[in-house]
Amino acid sequence: MLDRVLQEIRARHRFVVTSHARPDGDGIGSALACGQILRVMGKDATIVMHDGVPRIYQNLPFAGRAIQADTVPPNDAVILLECDGLKRTLLQGLEDCFLINIDHHVSGRNFAHINWIDSTVMATAELVYRLARLACVPVAADIATCLYTALMTDTGSFMFEGTNERTFTVARELVLAGADPARCARPIYFGHSTAKIRLLGAALSNLHLEGPLAWIWVTLEQMDRFGAREEDCEGLVNYALSIGDVQVAIFFRELPGQRYRVSLRSKGAVNVSAVAEHFGGGGHKCASGCSVEGPLAIAVSRVLERLRAQPVTVSTP
Ligand code: 5GP
Repeated sequence: MLDRVLQEIRARHRFVVTSHARPDGDGIGSALACGQILRVMGKDATIVMHDGVPRIYQNLPFAGRAIQADTVPPNDAVILLECDGLKRTLLQGLEDCFLINIDHHVSGRNFAHINWIDSTVMATAELVYRLARLACVPVAADIATCLYTALMTDTGSFMFEGTNERTFTVARELVLAGADPARCARPIYFGHSTAKIRLLGAALSNLHLEGPLAWIWVTLEQMDRFGAREEDCEGLVNYALSIGDVQVAIFFRELPGQRYRVSLRSKGAVNVSAVAEHFGGGGHKCASGCSVEGPLAIAVSRVLERLRAQPVTVSTP
């Protein structure tokens, strides 16, 4: 399928590259790198993100060239990275475009004209890296920095289940190409806003536990009070997962209209992607997300009910 992707790219000139709304490190890093790879190939590439580039990724190379928009600009093809459907981009006008879908989610779907989905890799960045290699585009330090950041964030700093020697081989090659691990890590792990840390305090004061399940939430009122943005919620769920006896952590973020955005994280024994998919979302076995109708007590009980029914696949020590 990689050959086919490259063939379709070679046959076209003007590209839009995008990812899902509220992009994470893999969505942003892969898109920025992919845009530059296309430019080196002599193509015209515009990175379009419905929600722009989150603050912690704004220092990445080429981030300043990404545009925030609601509608795709004119193009010969759109490359969607890390995205399991058109809806998740929140962009208008994709229906009439030639679409190339590159993804690594188990819940990935063949919604595009060309679909390259490989759930054996830890990050879409690994696929973009392969694309660069096959296209004979030199992976310079700036491209390597974007790809390394994507890989580092989607593997939870090389700690998530599935991280293996191939992940480290790619990471090593990116570091050899000029990615600096400490510089990539700094804005992401030591660059939080004060609002995010205050929100974390509020979320943890709502910590609930039931055997191996932990859940926390934040309300719109709390987000307003601390001046927190959506992106400040990223990663809060991991603090609940960091508790020794917890196998699955859930984070509920209140949305306008009594809905809740749900982030699910597992240490590996429970497949949380199945739960997210039940509610119309998706993701990976150990990290997935969805939206659920409120009020909060109802949203919590529906998600917990689903999780309690979920088989435990691995016995952890
Ligand atoms: P997060 O909890 O950080 O929002 O998402 C965790 C993982 O689940 C990410 O890989 C993300 O792409 C995926 N994910 C989150 N929300 C959704 C959703 O609504 N639909 C799908 N298909 N995947 C989602």
